[in-house]
Amino acid sequence: MNIRIGNGYDIHQLTTDRPLILGGIKIPHSLGLLGHSDADVLTHAIMDAMLGALSLGDIGHYFPPTDSQWAGADSLVLLDRVHGLIRERGWQVGNIDSVVVAERPKLKPHIPMMRDRLSSVLQIEPDRIGIKATTNEKLGPVGREEGIAAYAVALLVCP
Ligand code: MG
Repeated sequence: MNIRIGNGYDIHQLTTDRPLILGGIKIPHSLGLLGHSDADVLTHAIMDAMLGALSLGDIGHYFPPTDSQWAGADSLVLLDRVHGLIRERGWQVGNIDSVVVAERPKLKPHIPMMRDRLSSVLQIEPDRIGIKATTNEKLGPVGREEGIAAYAVALLVCP
């Protein structure tokens, strides 16, 4: 069995007039993330990890912010496309691990639903998707609630 590993990182600014969507779930909060698509920073980091594992570039290459087709796009639709790119090359997701760095709100109650949504798109069991949430201890732009960041690692397997 062949295995490949990739990592992904993303950060988006917080703003008052947008919904907060993380891992495909709309989370009640007074602030949301700014971006060309729905700005789902966690799903973006996961997609970049999957693409990186096969040296396929990054999501900016496939879904450029200059393309109006992706304005307001549901990032789970983009994830489905990325999943298609790896599947058509004979690969599938072994597991994913990720960290969301956000000062607020508390994300822990929403993590089971995020895992369910992401795993259904990737056609794997939810226990193959790790999502952890941490604050930045009030340090830096994330600590000042100017943005939310996410890191992800993806292991791909070719049976
Ligand atoms: Mg992004």
